[in-house]
This record gives sequence, structure tokens and C-alpha cells, in this order.
Amino acid sequence: MATNRRGSARAKKLLADIGFDEVTDIDMEILVSGLGATLIEEPLLNADGKIIRGNSKTLIKVNSVIPYEAKRRFTIAHEIGHYLLHDKLEVHNENSNTLNWFNDIETTFQRGIQEFEANDFASELLMPEVAFRKEIEGNYFSPDLFSHLSERFGTSITSTVYRILDLNIHPVLIVFIHDGKVRYWKKSPDLWCRVKDINKLPPPDDSVAREYIDAHYEFVYSGDEKQQSIYRSTWFELNEYQEDSEFFEYCIPTKQYKTIISVIWEN
Ligand SMILES: [Zn+2]
Repeated sequence: MATNRRGSARAKKLLADIGFDEVTDIDMEILVSGLGATLIEEPLLNADGKIIRGNSKTLIKVNSVIPYEAKRRFTIAHEIGHYLLHDKLEVHNENSNTLNWFNDIETTFQRGIQEFEANDFASELLMPEVAFRKEIEGNYFSPDLFSHLSERFGTSITSTVYRILDLNIHPVLIVFIHDGKVRYWKKSPDLWCRVKDINKLPPPDDSVAREYIDAHYEFVYSGDEKQQSIYRSTWFELNEYQEDSEFFEYCIPTKQYKTIISVIWEN
């Protein structure tokens, strides 16, 4: 599963075909129509986006009620991925499940490989590997860098951070928390730590994520304080001979959905 790169490979081919390094400054409507489909932004019930294939025309719809431009763009890019990769898919709706990166392998498998491929496509289309790596080079790894990247590529901080993990740019642990409990986590292969048993449990007492839950998903820290110093032992097992050491944790809360994305890395 982890080695399936059909989505990003197709996005790379698209960028090469149109002769652009990236599509950051291209209006999504123009991009979609250039590919022969029609983009419609309208209020949708219970869906972030959908694709409808007719005999000769394909419609890509995105929910105009989504308040975040970055999320609308990611949804459209995901649908373009279906359009170019999955021609058997006739009508398909997106929701928080299909657009969620933080599912474990099992759920990804049940949900179908097509969603994984469409997300992989969207990531590469909006944050092309070469441009993305170049933007990070020589920069200090911090929440300011995440904000910079997300503005630079017009993507959410969540997809930006996930991209860092996916491209194995810097060792991180990303934890997805919903309704006070850890739902999923993903870790860079280079982060040599064993994550504590946290699935379906509240985040650790001394974690920053816990502070955000106690604050009812309001922003607790801002500016330079966005990254908080924690211990290795907060999220990871220490082995018998290991001394505790400094790690950092940064949380992105969304009050509306009662979610927290927690990003953890070593000093
Ligand atoms: Zn989809």
C-alpha cells in the first residue's frame, strides 16, 4: 500500500504535460475545463465534493459552503485525480472519511485504494515534490515553516504537515484526535521511537493535545509559543537504558469538528 504511487505519478505526468512546475497560481476552474470537465461550485448536502460522469461530459462539484479555500482546492484536486485515474467511477461523493489522510491501513483498504490514490494525486498536484522540497531546504523546522508552506501552496496546514511526513522530509509523529480520543497516528520511518499505546484513548496527561482538549479546542498558544517543549516519554516508550529527552509538540485544533492534529518531533 505504502508503495502505491499511482496517484502522484499521474499528477507528475499532468504537470509535465501542461509544462508547469506547479498549479498554485492557476484557477481550479480553468484547470478543470482545460482537462475537459466542468467545475461547479454549489451547496452540497453531506458531501465536500463529488464527481459525476455522463456519457460525454464529466461534472466535478465542490461544496461552496466549505469555508476554507484550501479545503475546496484539495477537494477539487482529489476529484481531478478520480477523473484522470478511475474511469469506472460513475458517481462518487467525498466526505471527511474519503478525504481523511489519517486512517490506518485497514480502513484505507476497506475504503478502497482509489481514495488513497486520489489523495496522493491531489497532494502532488498542489504540493509538487520538487517545489515543496526546495521551499523547505535550509529552513528551521517549526510551525512558522508549516504556515509558510501552507500559504505558499494554498493548502491547509494539515495537508502540508502530512506531506512532510509522506515525503519523509523530517521525522515526525502526527496524531489525529477527535472528540477527546486518539483516532489515528502516523510516524515517519526515520523516527526511531515506539509510540505508546494510545489508540482510542485520551492523549497523554502531559501532552499539549490534552491542554487543547481542556481548553475546548480553542487556540491556547500563538506566535513563538506554538511549538511547546515536551518529553520523549510523553508520547513514546522509553526503553530500559534510555534517558528522557526534549521533543516538541504543535497542535492544530478545529473547534467546529472537535478535532486536533498534533505534530510531534525531536529537538
Ligand atoms: Zn474520492
